[in-house]
Amino acid sequence: MSFLKQINPFENALKQFDKAAQILNLTKNQIVMIKEPRRITEVNLPVRMDDGSIRIFKGFRVQHSLVRGPAKGGIRFHPDVTVEEVKALAFWMTYKCAVVDIPFGGGKGGVVVDPSKLSLNELENLTRRYFAELSDLFGPDSDIPAPDVNTNQQIMSWMFDTYSMHLKSHIPAVVTGKPLELGGSAGRSEATAQGMVFCVREATKHLGINLKGATVAIQGFGNAGSNAARILREDGVKIVAISDISGAYYNPEGIDIAAALDTCAKNKIWILEGLEKNTKVEKMVDPMKLLELDVDILIPAALENQITEQNAPDVKAKVIAECANGPVTPEADKILEKKNIFIIPDILCNAGGVTVSYLEWVQNRTGYYWSKERVNEDLKKIMVKAFHEVLQTSQKHNVNMRIAAFILAIARVARAAELRGLYA
Ligand code: NAD
Repeated sequence: MSFLKQINPFENALKQFDKAAQILNLTKNQIVMIKEPRRITEVNLPVRMDDGSIRIFKGFRVQHSLVRGPAKGGIRFHPDVTVEEVKALAFWMTYKCAVVDIPFGGGKGGVVVDPSKLSLNELENLTRRYFAELSDLFGPDSDIPAPDVNTNQQIMSWMFDTYSMHLKSHIPAVVTGKPLELGGSAGRSEATAQGMVFCVREATKHLGINLKGATVAIQGFGNAGSNAARILREDGVKIVAISDISGAYYNPEGIDIAAALDTCAKNKIWILEGLEKNTKVEKMVDPMKLLELDVDILIPAALENQITEQNAPDVKAKVIAECANGPVTPEADKILEKKNIFIIPDILCNAGGVTVSYLEWVQNRTGYYWSKERVNEDLKKIMVKAFHEVLQTSQKHNVNMRIAAFILAIARVARAAELRGLYA
């Protein structure tokens, strides 16, 4: 088993919780009410494959908290999905929604599958079976999924359709991240990256770093990473390295992001394979070395546990903007803090996605749709406010931004739990 696979993301998440809860002086009763997930569901999903055989896929849905509103969180399709990972991701959703103060709890789902090995028909069968099997959990007032790694607008469309067919009613608010034609929100597809950019702008202002000409490395070039590159380019940054599962690509003079986006478009799947043939870049021998480049801003936008105690000593960035969930382990966190690296923590940094999901849900429920300008205006207000609340909390308690984000979020969830009380 690789070193990375031995790291339990849920245990890591709880370590983050414990530190913040201690500073808040929460009582044992307050802690038990909000720490562990409320409901963990595991299903074995039979799916008919194109050759007529039936294959079983394992699926999960974890509802971590319903205290501040319906569970909210994406569904991941990945061969390495485990229940511990889904628990961690659901936990982070609870506190992410609380940091940006939107009225949702936390949930997350996952299916153990490599979707690139399925035909479109098999992918649809699997998606619909997952949603139908768990339809008692889902609903606009109970649990609202969204896309995550390897799930997209098409998959959200099938989920919305499956649910609506079962209930014989048109219910777009049951999932977010839908295409515009089915009640998606303007600005949703780039919302995670856009929210991250709002945070990066505030962080660099705070640290006195000029964003124009600042160097950036981005790990992961999917929804979050590619949109981050596209939007940040408008701020005049120099993106010197990008990566995905095909490898890492480097040019100290700055990568032509339009060529990178074009390469993905030509590949017809979201992958940078062959970028070195389309523009001036060097393919790095070890893609993980991207994380150690001497850049102003490092953006992990792939998966969790990428910066560990093993590579943290070699990280040189001034700012780490966590677009991915859980990219830095708690052990690495300690090392990075000693090195004075400013981390914009995941539960704040990538909260733009769930924030615009919230705005999508609001639009679905009112049946009135906003312009992208209106959506981005609200997103900016929410993200900038949250960034400064976290920064002030960090200054007040003399803690780093991650612990500060948890302090702010845990206090909100604990207060809501207290106000609701314990029924029976
Ligand atoms: P995605 O599937 O669109 O993209 C993932 C990217 O990471 C792909 O480019 C993939 O090739 C790359 N990747 C996977 N393993 C890698 C590795 N070992 N090294 C380098 N690259 C690797 O997923 P996404 O939606 O962009 O999500 C990325 C991260 O952001 C995840 O941690 C997700 O939980 C988080 N996130 C996404 C959203 C959203 O709205 N999309 C919101 C909040 C958080």
